[in-house]
Amino acid sequence: MTERLATDVLILGAGGAGLTAALRAADASPSLRVTVVVKGLLGRAGCTRMVQGGYNAVLAAPDSLEAHLRDTLEGGGWINDQEMVWTLVREAPGRVQELETRYGCFFDRTAEGRIHQKPFAGQSHDRTIHRGDLTGIEIMNRLTEQVRARANVTVLEECRAVELLADDAGRAAGAVVLDIRSGELLAVGARATLLAMGGGPTMYKVIACSADKSADGLALAWRAGLELRDMEMVQFHPTGLVIPGSLMTGALLEEGLRGAGGHLRNGLGERFMQRYDPARMERSTRDLVSRASFLEIAEGRGTPNGGVWIDVSHLGADNVERAFRGMVRRCRDFGRDLARGPVEVQPTTHFMMGGIVADSSCRTMVEALFVAGEDAGGVHGANRLGGNGVAESTVFGGIAGDVMAEFVVGQRASRLDESVVERTALAVNAPRRRAADADLYTLQRELRALMWDKAGLVRDAAGLGEARVGVERIAAALRRVGVPGHGAFNIAWQDWLNLSNQATIAALIVASALERTESRGAHYRSDFPSPEPGPIFTVRVRQRRGEMVVSRAPVDFTRMAPSPAPPATVAVDIGD
Ligand SMILES: Cc1cc2nc3c(=O)[nH]c(=O)nc-3n(C[C@H](O)[C@H](O)[C@H](O)COP(=O)(O)OP(=O)(O)OC[C@H]3O[C@@H](n4cnc5c(N)ncnc54)[C@H](O)[C@@H]3O)c2cc1C
Repeated sequence: MTERLATDVLILGAGGAGLTAALRAADASPSLRVTVVVKGLLGRAGCTRMVQGGYNAVLAAPDSLEAHLRDTLEGGGWINDQEMVWTLVREAPGRVQELETRYGCFFDRTAEGRIHQKPFAGQSHDRTIHRGDLTGIEIMNRLTEQVRARANVTVLEECRAVELLADDAGRAAGAVVLDIRSGELLAVGARATLLAMGGGPTMYKVIACSADKSADGLALAWRAGLELRDMEMVQFHPTGLVIPGSLMTGALLEEGLRGAGGHLRNGLGERFMQRYDPARMERSTRDLVSRASFLEIAEGRGTPNGGVWIDVSHLGADNVERAFRGMVRRCRDFGRDLARGPVEVQPTTHFMMGGIVADSSCRTMVEALFVAGEDAGGVHGANRLGGNGVAESTVFGGIAGDVMAEFVVGQRASRLDESVVERTALAVNAPRRRAADADLYTLQRELRALMWDKAGLVRDAAGLGEARVGVERIAAALRRVGVPGHGAFNIAWQDWLNLSNQATIAALIVASALERTESRGAHYRSDFPSPEPGPIFTVRVRQRRGEMVVSRAPVDFTRMAPSPAPPATVAVDIGD
């Protein structure tokens, strides 16, 4: 029997996007009931907590909103939704102020007492606000305290959304949630629902992102009939740790190391970026640096353990210890001394630029359903700049909270479609009712290897074709997997649900990558190594009568057109 719960605003996910949305919605009116569902523990799960480098916002001249816009569009290969980017850059300074003055965050200061901003790759100004190199912990701790202090916010921890609900008019009406602790299902009826589950490219072999994420939000949206965009745009970060034999391989060393002047060298000791981007060298965008490292390793110029070296020791051990405390500690845990010598790194899967199609107010194509953060597509285009991720999650999370609080006023409580609740209960519990005919963890390993080898940093039609067939086979085999044991804390069952969603989204990544017969941003096709000369387009995927439809849509240059000449920038002083 599925339990019932009613709320006004339902927030699925509790990273930067989910928590900011919860706070803004809760503060809009004390009579609003806000419910937050989080797969792990509040404040501990997801990627916002892992944010190391920092938060991009324009605080003073000579930086400008236009420069931030241009950097983001250039980095994004000009396929971004320009209205979403403009919203990001315009709102980010205010959100930083709000994080400090309303929610209690405190960012590093200059000697004069102003917020310190550091350089980050792909940016024309020092723009990245930070708390040492552990910025996410500061943001998540303060947001979590604030959420805990709101009487009108209910938090359901260790609960995962497994399906979206609609009412009889097709409007979003909440979600079916699985309580991981008990194995019981709960149908949460809501007048507005936010998808903020943080994407998560965990279907790849080497990852930097939080392992609790499994692209659940995207899979739920897909099953609910929403359109997704830019799914081929998976970001690989160049500096994931190489720790042979450890699951920590892939854990991130932050971009600030390159921003501060760190050198990358191959196994022969060459600063190989000279070959790929001699103007920007290590400060080039992360897609270029990742691919360059990948090619160096693939062509036999890697380090003994199959990586490249990052070296910041020339910056001075004391400086490195002070500026990159978290990174130094992380390396020391594995016997590496980042402050005094080179450390082996390799590309790692980091972020999904693609996601659910939405507008700048976080509205999706389904009424009463909203999206914010990494689940949304459009802000980052073909490549996310370091520092724009946490800005996106808190800016759009806040907007979603405001918009939903206003949206629910006068909306009647929706009537749940009981047939969806029943169907979901059957589908979710299906693997527990059958004997195992295929091994879950073999399939998990296969999917990760397939995506890494055939749909990773360097792609071509033949490899993507193999990936398509392989993903289909894995998805079919998953339907024969059984999981033993009862429902409470059943890890295999959770992993089956994770892998099902990962396989669903892997298929969309592969199909979109096949459609983009050019190289742009994070998407590199060795069989089409240049951008197409024709109009710039985005790739969209949606379902029609149960079949996947892949299409191209032209980009609207509503704010800026790509041009080789640098634009005149208008200085903005947000102190006014
Ligand atoms: C190691 C690392 C370093 C980074 N450093 C930076 C940086 O310096 N600057 C920057 O701008 N960006 C950085 N990023 C990117 C940044 O973390 C993300 O852009 C941002 O945190 C995404 O926020 P979010 O709220 O969308 O998702 P997340 O913070 O990932 O939150 C997702 C939430 O959804 C929950 N969830 C998932 N599935 C379900 C489900 N089925 N039901 C319920 N809840 C669910 C998760 O438990 C989590 O609470 C970094 C990312 C990583 C991995």
